[in-house]
Amino acid sequence: MAYLTVERATKQFTEAFRALDGVSITVERGEFFTLLGPSGCGKTTLLRAIAGFNDLTSGDITLAGADLRKIAPYQRDIGMVFQDYAVFPHLSVFDNVAFGLKPRNVPHAERKTRVDEALAAVRLTALSDRMPAAMSGGQQQRIGIARAMVIKPRLLLMDEPLSNLDAKLRIELREEIRDIQKQIDIAAIYVTHDQEEALAISDRICVMNGGHIEQVGSPQDIYGDPQTLFVGTFVGTLNKLTKGNGLERMLQALDLSGVGAETWAIRPERLLLSADCATGGAVLNGIVSKYTYLGREAHLQLETEIGDLVIHISNPGRGAGRNLGEQVAVTVPRDDLMAFDAAGKRMSRGG
Ligand code: ADP
Ligand code: MG
Repeated sequence: MAYLTVERATKQFTEAFRALDGVSITVERGEFFTLLGPSGCGKTTLLRAIAGFNDLTSGDITLAGADLRKIAPYQRDIGMVFQDYAVFPHLSVFDNVAFGLKPRNVPHAERKTRVDEALAAVRLTALSDRMPAAMSGGQQQRIGIARAMVIKPRLLLMDEPLSNLDAKLRIELREEIRDIQKQIDIAAIYVTHDQEEALAISDRICVMNGGHIEQVGSPQDIYGDPQTLFVGTFVGTLNKLTKGNGLERMLQALDLSGVGAETWAIRPERLLLSADCATGGAVLNGIVSKYTYLGREAHLQLETEIGDLVIHISNPGRGAGRNLGEQVAVTVPRDDLMAFDAAGKRMSRGG
């Protein structure tokens, strides 16, 4: 049995509105599990139900075999890190971290050892006497992480802990969080609406949408093998091919017209900017309508008979620039075309 199990979790805020609608997940010991989805999809509601800050309307939550809904929040041994740091401004860094230990009857001598360990893990040892007001957002969030860790929780919950930080710090701290989680070997549930963050940090990602789960899988599964149109568009970029004679001709040439898909789509980095017959794809003509150089990547937009296509080119050399209006050949590799049905579910394409 999994370490944490949530079964058919439903949260009904009003008669007409369910923030969670039958959500089931499992998290293993030591796993870094991420809830990813747009604002309002129910991530915080699920996290708060696990922490015990609000109860479910129905469903079961089990941690290490125990029914969590029967245990008071403060007895659940769950550490939580919030978006807005939630540090106490009148307490030193040390006392902020020590705060959670008092109600837990940890002996005085052990308190200091535990706080020192937690501060070392988040690299705040040198600042332990400081007051939080004199510290940066990143440092304040480290206090939050140390305070959650110091109680040696059975589960660590983090609700968008990096959203208030600037881009560079977000990347630094997400790697630290991941390292700390692996080092203390704790099960963690991490909430974010940032797909890149989710891909970078997670063992598994659960993509949520409107109170339900779209897909659970490794970052590679979620990005490389999206099971719904929603996942494909929310995580990364997806070219949706425009219906019409051009598309019909292409599908026929690739022996794919029998699939009967509602939507065909392809990732921008799978399109090839050349007439490459070796890939077993279809070659189309395109007119360059946009070229964006981004250093390690360039994004090219083409008008073609299957609609506007975005192509991502990695390592664009100095000579790789394209002029607006220029005609180019693009190859659509057969294997990289994804088919979705009318409900947005991924379809098998057969052979
Ligand atoms: P997320 O964290 O994914 O952005 P939330 O779990 O906070 O989403 O919210 C899910 C939905 O539930 C939202 O539409 C939100 O407005 C609604 N909601 C959250 N808390 C309450 C509440 N206490 N009363 C009524 N509706 C709420
Ligand atoms: Mg939220």
